[in-house]
Amino acid sequence: VLYEADIALAVSRKVRDSLRARGIEVLMTRNRDTLIALDDRGRMANRANASLFLSIHVNAANPRWRNPAAARGFETYFLADAKTEDERRVAEIENEVTRFEVGVATKPGDPLAFVISDMLQNQFLRESSELAAVVQEHLSAVHPGEDRGVKQAGFRVLVTAHMPAVLIELGFGTNPAEARYLASTRGQAELAGAIARSTARYLAQLDRRRAAGGGR
Ligand SMILES: [Zn+2]
Repeated sequence: VLYEADIALAVSRKVRDSLRARGIEVLMTRNRDTLIALDDRGRMANRANASLFLSIHVNAANPRWRNPAAARGFETYFLADAKTEDERRVAEIENEVTRFEVGVATKPGDPLAFVISDMLQNQFLRESSELAAVVQEHLSAVHPGEDRGVKQAGFRVLVTAHMPAVLIELGFGTNPAEARYLASTRGQAELAGAIARSTARYLAQLDRRRAAGGGR
């Protein structure tokens, strides 16, 4: 059995190490199995004045699909209203985590769509979609699975982060070959390396743009 949290944490730690080796400061919102509400993770990043926010995950096929075990591949999301059924599915899974992780249920009729239209999010929409594109491009250079592209959906974990923010689905734990890759030391090192390179590249771009007075 492949546990999403274990894989995600292992890859996140490798991303952290790789970024620190490049002189980039990293704050982990979850360093071991401590449970931190999704909403609080973004707030932690705000308090730290972080330049960007990465949320790393493992995807799961919908058991109702015709051939769920066949689904594989990686995708990177930024925060915006979901447009497709599949984007809504992933947002539902990731937003559900609140319930299991901290016992705080999302209130029925929680106006997530309203929160997304918040000015603070719109401000970072373009930067977040650019960051997502850079991450997805670097992942495609190493990942053996299908490039499922840059996508958008309403993720709780991204809503409270007032900075460019993306959510990465490393692959499908429900696909046996992909699960082996995600659990392997080599696979984790490749994925973490790609995420770290794309993050460093994006931060350098952001610095240049802001130094040039382009603002955001
Ligand atoms: Zn997840």
